[in-house]
Formats: sequence, structure tokens, C-alpha cells
Amino acid sequence: MPAHHHAVSPVVGRLAPSPTGLLHLGNAWAFLLAWLSARSRGGRILLRMEDLDPQRSRPAFADAILEDLAWLGLDWDAGPDTASAGCAECAGGPFVQGLRGPVYAAALARLEAAGLTYPCFCSRKELRQLASAPHLGEEEAAPADPCRDLDAAARQSLLAAGRHASLRLRCPAEAIAFDDEVMGPQRFAPGDFGGDFALRRSDGVVAYQLAVAVDDGLMGVTEVVRGRDLLPSTPRQLLVMRSLGLRPPRYAHIPLLLDAGGERLAKRHASLSLAALRARGVEPARITGYLAGLAGINPGGAPAHPRELVGRFSLNTLPRNDMRVMEEDVARLVGSN
Ligand code: GLU
Repeated sequence: MPAHHHAVSPVVGRLAPSPTGLLHLGNAWAFLLAWLSARSRGGRILLRMEDLDPQRSRPAFADAILEDLAWLGLDWDAGPDTASAGCAECAGGPFVQGLRGPVYAAALARLEAAGLTYPCFCSRKELRQLASAPHLGEEEAAPADPCRDLDAAARQSLLAAGRHASLRLRCPAEAIAFDDEVMGPQRFAPGDFGGDFALRRSDGVVAYQLAVAVDDGLMGVTEVVRGRDLLPSTPRQLLVMRSLGLRPPRYAHIPLLLDAGGERLAKRHASLSLAALRARGVEPARITGYLAGLAGINPGGAPAHPRELVGRFSLNTLPRNDMRVMEEDVARLVGSN
């Protein structure tokens, strides 16, 4: 990211964990890079707890995540634990999605009033079938959601009959283009990300795409650094922000950490949770030094506190491909030298 952005506006980055499990090495990788990216340009960090999914979120995980991040040496200027505004540039708390219901309701009401949404009565199964239109080499348009064009009377009678509906955003037909700081120029036609998408589930739970777009926009986030698995979410979030007149951040989608078998590191890799590594006596600076080594800013991967890495940060040395964490890497990490 070019340094001249610094003078233009204050940099605000964010860490956006979901409290659905313990942080693992893959989360630490993404959060370290997001933190370094903002801090290396004198930027602010906000920490936003993404506890929207009532089935999977646990307060105990939220607490553990804050502890693990602090242990790792990452700090934040605004977050769930900062009284109100720890950061003038980070507008619009609270920084816990579960406490932001009224904010999302207001955004949804604006989108509805603008005619940009429609209720969808399809079951999950029907939506899956719509989404998996055959791709047989020929340009075959995915079948449109039949609920998109229901007339008002049909809609009213389904709603009056008590049918549950999700609320979907009507996507324009044009492609969405943006420049990713790592992945380069991107272009997504609506069919590439599944077309119209849910802003609110039929059980009333606000969808990730709506919440993240509204939050990044309203909280003044200027850059999003996250795993490249979220790249196809970006055109959807840009559409939401555009529809609400919110200013989009810059995006940097980074390669993923994989296990030796090529699977993305995830919560099920319990032995690579930060809590497990800490319990084995691994110093946090070893972890951040190792991860900085993978990022190409700490050759040899010697122990380094995040603060010591700030001056060395660059996205230019970042590998473009996903990286495997092998058994011997883990052994070196937990080993005594
Ligand atoms: N909370 C999301 C997750 O843990 C990340 C959201 C984002 O970075 O946009 O997967």
C-alpha cells in the first residue's frame, strides 16, 4: 500500500473475530497482518466482535479472543472493552454486532424503502438448487429467484399467511470491479457470487454481508485485511455500501495458511489454537516472528514482538499463494530453539 495514502486520511484497520471458537494460527496470521498494515502507517485499529450467529457464538469465546489477541501483542483503540470512544477516528460503536440490532434495522429499512430488496420465500434447499445452475461450458444464465418478481398482491398474501421470508438484495446485472491490494484487479459478475443474496435470514438473524458492510462503512474503516476466502464476499459488501451511500474501504485479501494436507487452518485444528500453543509454553513473540517470516518481513522467522515488526511491514513481500504449515514447522515453533 503506497505511503502517500497516509497524508490523505487517517488509516483505520479492523480485527473482526467471530466468537465461535478459539483463535488459531490462521486467525493470528490474518490479524497480525491487518494490525501491522494499519500500524505501519500510524493507523488506528478497531476490534469488532462478530457474534451475529446465535447458534454458534459464545461469550466465553469472545473473552478468550480478547485475551489471546492481547497475549499475542496486538492492541486496539476501540473495541468491546473500551468504554465508549477510545478512538476519535473509529466512529459509531458499539463494537459488538449483537448490540447493533437497531443500526442494522435502520439500514434494512432504508434499502427496503429504496425498493432494493424483496422477501424470499424459498427454502434453503430451493435456494441451493437455484444457486447450482448447470455450467456446461455454455453461458447459461442462472435461473432467477422466482420471488424476485412476485407481484405485490402475491407477496402480501404469502406474508399474511405467516410464511417466513428472508430479505434479499436485488443485485444489478453489471459486474462489480475493484482493485485488491494483494490479489490485483477483480471483476465479479453477479453470477460469480450467486446473484441476489440474503441481508436477513428468514429467522430474523441479520446476515454477515449486511452487518459487515454497514459496520465497515459506519465505523470509518479505511482498510480491510483478511483471508482470501472472503474475496467473493467483497462484491456483495461493496453493493451494500454503494446502496447505502457508505464509503468503501480498500481491500487486501491475503493468502491462507493450510495444514500439511492442504486444508485451511480452522477451529478444528485444536492443537494450533493459540491457547494450546500457550499451554505448551510457546512465547507469543515466537508465533508472531514465525508468521512474519511467512509474510516475508522477518527472514528466518526469529522471535519478534508485533511492535518490532511495524517498521518492516510491506505487502510486497507477501507470497501470493496459500502456505502449508508442516509438522516440522509446528515442531520448531513449540521446540526450545
Ligand atoms: N468475522 C468474520 C470471520 O471470522 C470475518 C469478517 C471479515 O473479516 O470481514 O470469518
